Amino acid sequence: MATTLSLLTKTRKDFPILGRNVNGKPLAYLDNAATSQKPRQVIEAISAYYENYNANIHRGIHRLSEEATAAYEEAHKKAAGLIGAREGEIIFTKNTTESLNLLAYSIGLTLRPGDEIVLTEAEHHSNLVPWQQVAKITQSQVKFAQVNEKGELDMEHFQSLVTRNTRIVAAAHVTNAFGAINPVKEMAEIAHSEGALMVVDAAQSVPHMPVSASQLGCDFIAFSSHKMLGPTGIGVLYGRKSELEKMHPFLYGGDMIKEVSYEETKFNELPWKFEAGTPNISGAIGFGAAIDYLCKIGLDSVQSHEQALTRHALKRLAEEKDVLVYGPEKRAGIISFNIGNVHPHDAAAILDMEGIAVRAGHHCAMPLMKKMGLQGTVRASFYLYNTKAEIGRLAEALEKVRKVFK
Ligand code: PMP
Repeated sequence: MATTLSLLTKTRKDFPILGRNVNGKPLAYLDNAATSQKPRQVIEAISAYYENYNANIHRGIHRLSEEATAAYEEAHKKAAGLIGAREGEIIFTKNTTESLNLLAYSIGLTLRPGDEIVLTEAEHHSNLVPWQQVAKITQSQVKFAQVNEKGELDMEHFQSLVTRNTRIVAAAHVTNAFGAINPVKEMAEIAHSEGALMVVDAAQSVPHMPVSASQLGCDFIAFSSHKMLGPTGIGVLYGRKSELEKMHPFLYGGDMIKEVSYEETKFNELPWKFEAGTPNISGAIGFGAAIDYLCKIGLDSVQSHEQALTRHALKRLAEEKDVLVYGPEKRAGIISFNIGNVHPHDAAAILDMEGIAVRAGHHCAMPLMKKMGLQGTVRASFYLYNTKAEIGRLAEALEKVRKVFK
């Protein structure tokens, strides 16, 4: 493990931002569940597009447009390769949120009174609000599978909620508030046994571990480039081809059409049927570079690095007085905690004075925080470039927080 740790921390030199100081201290960036930092390779791929071959794609019969089209389509292939999807099954969206909204508008609006959507209590607002709103419009119903005090899903309760009335099951692969890992493969089997579709919010899993669409056996997977070393403004909706073919587009306009008359429109092939208008070309190209970067390192190495860091952090935080850590034993590289009665925002502000970036608040999971009786938590989340030394600094800084508020 020590080898993986030292190996991966060598990647730090690729991330210009990690060299900066914050409040006179070296930056310790522990807010990766919110967004990741970007390596030089990604920044340079985006600059190269704007400097050398900026043009709109698909339409132009000129060299620059051909080059831009090739690079954009290469990014589709790279994203497909990453999760073992087939051509046409990767739709570029703005982010995970838009991917889930696409599903809510396209499939969700076909629901009827009596139909049910099953979610878990630990969903990010992005995988809750779209379904809740669609249920209101269609007079269908949302049901929530319970999680225990550690944020782990109660599978028995989940299974009891999935019935012949269930049309859609949607759940996070890894929950962003507590880092719990859901058994999405088993959940998909249960969903399918009742004829429901399985949607996986993989915003916190695809960036951190190998994920295979066929092994998960689900119908849809949503994730964001910005959480996996790529730029903001581009995300993915993976969909099983047979399902995507049945679905109606979510946005209408240019590029998503094959033929238009004043009366009728024939939609384009997959995936372009769902990519209306000029897409985020530079974003896709930067995302492609991020996928290359991650694949070169290997997502299994990224995962073991983060697991080693998480074990170390849990041990280190357990030594700190008054620090209460939430979440299950088996977790991803996300640690949510509170320190005594200190408001999470106050704790995060003091950590910032020490150059340590963490997130504090409800982590876009307000109903979950309310259920747990928490006003919020401080959340440290890791990525491939984080070090044990940074965790040591976090623990020492927490000592300061405790003293300030004693
Ligand atoms: N789902 C989960 C589990 C997340 O952690 C996030 C981001 N915090 C999202 C959805 C939304 O991602 P985005 O803001 O990139 O759409």
